[in-house]
Amino acid sequence: MDHPSLEKDGFLLSTIDGLFGRAQEGSLWYLSFGLACCAVEMMHAAASRYDMERFGWMPRASPRQADLMIVAGTLTNKMAPAMRKIYDQMTEPRYVLSMGSCANGGGYYHYSYSVVRGCDRIVPVDVYVPGCPPSAEALLYGLMQLQAKVRRNDTASRRDLLDRSTSRQPS
Ligand code: SF4
Repeated sequence: MDHPSLEKDGFLLSTIDGLFGRAQEGSLWYLSFGLACCAVEMMHAAASRYDMERFGWMPRASPRQADLMIVAGTLTNKMAPAMRKIYDQMTEPRYVLSMGSCANGGGYYHYSYSVVRGCDRIVPVDVYVPGCPPSAEALLYGLMQLQAKVRRNDTASRRDLLDRSTSRQPS
């Protein structure tokens, strides 16, 4: 049977998961959180030329109102506990995009005594964007890949996420 179409039948069929996914992929509020030079490209993507807000990606200054962390820059050992604390304060379901060589694996500073060799040692990463720095276009492409992942995520069916978010105490 053909799927109903809005033009022909005047209605559409979907699932709660489908609706949640569509709503969330178009309202990914990201933490304004820059660690080093990659953050300048993140700002570039947010500025008027690429205008991330037209996709519904809006910067938030509080982790409690953000569901996306873009790790933009070099993560040092000193900063790692603070980053993990911020991640823990974000709302569920939450996502992480690792932007650039430093966040992905330490980059130029891979052998430095003070740099974490990849932010995925501290937080779970959903999408990696390569480059040093990745261009604003590359960041947009990475975010579109994340949107596709959010759409597939079946948030409403994932009881573990909902249970965790209701039982989580503010810290
Ligand atoms: S990947 Fe390159 S541009 Fe990005 S923070 Fe590291 S050194 Fe800077």
